[in-house]
Amino acid sequence: MGWTERQHGMLQAMGLRVWSPPELPAVTTLEPAAQPVPVPVPVPVPVPTRVPTRVPTPVPAVAVSVAASVDEPVAEPVTTPPAVVSLDLDWPALQAAVAGCRACGLCESRRQTVFGVGAQRAHWMVIGEAPGEQEDRQGEPFVGPAGQLLDRMLAALGLSRDAESDDPAQQVYIANTLKCRPPNNRNPAPEEMARCEPFLVRQIQLLQPRIILAMGRFAVQALLQSNEAIGRLRGRVHQYQGVPLIVTYHPAYLLRNLPDKAKAWDDLCLAAATAEQARR
Ligand code: URA
Repeated sequence: MGWTERQHGMLQAMGLRVWSPPELPAVTTLEPAAQPVPVPVPVPVPVPTRVPTRVPTPVPAVAVSVAASVDEPVAEPVTTPPAVVSLDLDWPALQAAVAGCRACGLCESRRQTVFGVGAQRAHWMVIGEAPGEQEDRQGEPFVGPAGQLLDRMLAALGLSRDAESDDPAQQVYIANTLKCRPPNNRNPAPEEMARCEPFLVRQIQLLQPRIILAMGRFAVQALLQSNEAIGRLRGRVHQYQGVPLIVTYHPAYLLRNLPDKAKAWDDLCLAAATAEQARR
């Protein structure tokens, strides 16, 4: 396949290198430099503050079976039904509620909560799993190796979490399903997901993004209530409360599974095309 100069630039930004043997069609090879996943160090920080007001409404329990897959592994069965809670808070009040949250045990081990980053009028919303060690230290999502890959992928599409552009179509708001780091970077527990979900729901309501990129199985579980493997959900447009949602691999997974980077790039292109369509 022949690549245009622009495509070359995008592939390069994602860490993909194009190799063209003399007599064969061009083949995409992948750079070998995967970063090790940081080793977590939980630090107990007692935060004596209040739990945000929660108004539980009946929601059907999610009975989920674990499907075997060659893709990103699926989570354990979800046994706790997610509480659907409406938080009628503006941005500052929501951020304060997150900062003071003690709704689950993660408040004991976090250094700080990690609320989200990006312009509050961004058209793009990227949703990950939970803060890792770097995020717990810095208070910002996706600042470790996975975040650097994410930033490169977004940059390849002209998108940024920083206020470099005045155009909301080029701005990205990044948040996590959980606002606190699970100790030792373990998987989020269903109970923790359910407790934290109202914060994410409210962030989406306030942001009103044109496109949501759900990265990894926990973001997908929270937003689509699905335990399907990412490989089965990606490649099409889902909906979350009327907002188009694209499923893709988590960047930390991509660092360990380089061949799936090309699929993640396809997912980003689908998201870009979908966002563009929503503008018309
Ligand atoms: N992984 C995530 O899902 N979120 C972060 O903020 C960092 C790593």
